[in-house]
Amino acid sequence: MSFEDKQLHCSDCGADFTFSAEEQEFFQSKGYTNEPKRCPTCREARKSQRYGSSSGYNSRRQMFPVTCAECGKETEVPFEPREGRPVYCSECYNKVRMNQ
Ligand SMILES: [Zn+2]
Ligand SMILES: [Zn+2]
Repeated sequence: MSFEDKQLHCSDCGADFTFSAEEQEFFQSKGYTNEPKRCPTCREARKSQRYGSSSGYNSRRQMFPVTCAECGKETEVPFEPREGRPVYCSECYNKVRMNQ
Protein backbone atom coordinates (compact mmCIF):
# COMPACT_ATOMS: atom_id res chain seq x y z
CA MET A 1 0.00 0.00 0.00
CA SER A 2 1.46 3.33 -0.97
CA PHE A 3 0.61 6.77 0.25
CA GLU A 4 0.57 10.14 -1.38
CA ASP A 5 0.84 13.54 0.17
CA LYS A 6 -2.55 14.93 0.96
CA GLN A 7 -3.69 18.50 1.45
CA LEU A 8 -5.81 18.91 4.54
CA HIS A 9 -7.59 21.85 6.03
CA CYS A 10 -6.85 22.85 9.62
CA SER A 11 -10.02 23.03 11.67
CA ASP A 12 -8.47 25.56 14.05
CA CYS A 13 -6.80 28.21 11.92
CA GLY A 14 -8.18 27.22 8.53
CA ALA A 15 -4.77 26.86 6.93
CA ASP A 16 -4.05 24.15 4.42
CA PHE A 17 -1.35 21.75 5.46
CA THR A 18 0.25 18.65 4.05
CA PHE A 19 -0.50 15.26 5.50
CA SER A 20 2.59 13.68 4.09
CA ALA A 21 2.94 10.13 2.86
CA GLU A 22 5.28 9.33 5.75
CA GLU A 23 2.82 10.66 8.28
CA GLN A 24 0.03 8.67 6.73
CA GLU A 25 2.14 5.58 6.94
CA PHE A 26 2.97 6.39 10.55
CA PHE A 27 -0.69 6.93 11.37
CA GLN A 28 -1.58 3.63 9.82
CA SER A 29 1.16 1.79 11.65
CA LYS A 30 -0.26 3.19 14.88
CA GLY A 31 -3.71 2.06 13.90
CA TYR A 32 -5.13 5.57 13.72
CA THR A 33 -8.00 5.78 11.33
CA ASN A 34 -8.68 9.50 11.55
CA GLU A 35 -6.81 12.08 9.60
CA PRO A 36 -5.32 14.90 11.61
CA LYS A 37 -7.76 17.79 11.97
CA ARG A 38 -5.19 20.41 12.75
CA CYS A 39 -2.05 21.73 11.16
CA PRO A 40 1.23 20.96 12.96
CA THR A 41 1.39 24.49 14.37
CA CYS A 42 -2.03 24.24 15.99
CA ARG A 43 -1.30 20.76 17.21
CA GLU A 44 1.83 22.03 18.95
CA ALA A 45 -0.04 24.99 20.37
CA ARG A 46 -2.73 22.76 21.82
CA LYS A 47 -0.18 20.41 23.29
CA SER A 48 1.68 23.15 25.12
CA GLN A 49 -1.61 24.67 26.28
CA ARG A 50 -2.75 21.40 27.66
CA TYR A 51 0.40 20.78 29.66
CA GLY A 52 1.06 24.38 30.50
CA SER A 53 -1.81 25.91 32.37
CA SER A 54 -4.43 23.39 33.31
CA SER A 55 -3.78 21.59 36.54
CA GLY A 56 -5.51 18.38 37.40
CA TYR A 57 -4.92 17.14 33.93
CA ASN A 58 -1.26 16.26 34.31
CA SER A 59 -1.02 12.58 33.89
CA ARG A 60 2.36 13.31 32.44
CA ARG A 61 4.85 14.79 34.84
CA GLN A 62 5.91 18.23 33.88
CA MET A 63 8.78 19.71 35.81
CA PHE A 64 8.95 23.39 36.66
CA PRO A 65 12.27 25.10 37.28
CA VAL A 66 12.36 26.85 40.66
CA THR A 67 14.85 28.29 43.09
CA CYS A 68 14.75 26.75 46.54
CA ALA A 69 13.48 29.26 49.10
CA GLU A 70 15.69 27.75 51.76
CA CYS A 71 19.12 27.16 50.26
CA GLY A 72 18.81 29.02 46.97
CA LYS A 73 19.64 25.97 44.91
CA GLU A 74 18.08 25.67 41.49
CA THR A 75 15.85 22.68 41.23
CA GLU A 76 12.71 21.39 39.57
CA VAL A 77 9.38 20.53 41.06
CA PRO A 78 6.57 18.45 39.54
CA PHE A 79 3.93 21.10 40.21
CA GLU A 80 3.40 24.65 39.14
CA PRO A 81 4.78 26.98 41.78
CA ARG A 82 2.24 29.48 43.10
CA GLU A 83 3.26 33.04 43.50
CA GLY A 84 4.01 33.97 47.09
CA ARG A 85 4.42 30.35 48.12
CA PRO A 86 7.94 29.23 48.98
CA VAL A 87 9.23 26.30 46.99
CA TYR A 88 11.98 24.05 48.27
CA CYS A 89 14.37 21.58 46.78
CA SER A 90 13.75 18.01 47.82
CA GLU A 91 16.28 18.15 50.66
CA CYS A 92 14.92 21.32 52.18
CA TYR A 93 11.38 20.18 51.57
CA ASN A 94 11.99 17.18 53.76
CA LYS A 95 13.61 19.34 56.44
CA VAL A 96 10.77 21.84 56.39
CA ARG A 97 8.18 19.13 56.52
CA MET A 98 9.80 17.44 59.49
CA ASN A 99 9.90 20.70 61.39
CA GLN A 100 6.21 21.21 61.03
ZN1 LIG B 1 -3.92 25.43 12.21
ZN1 LIG C 1 17.07 23.77 49.27
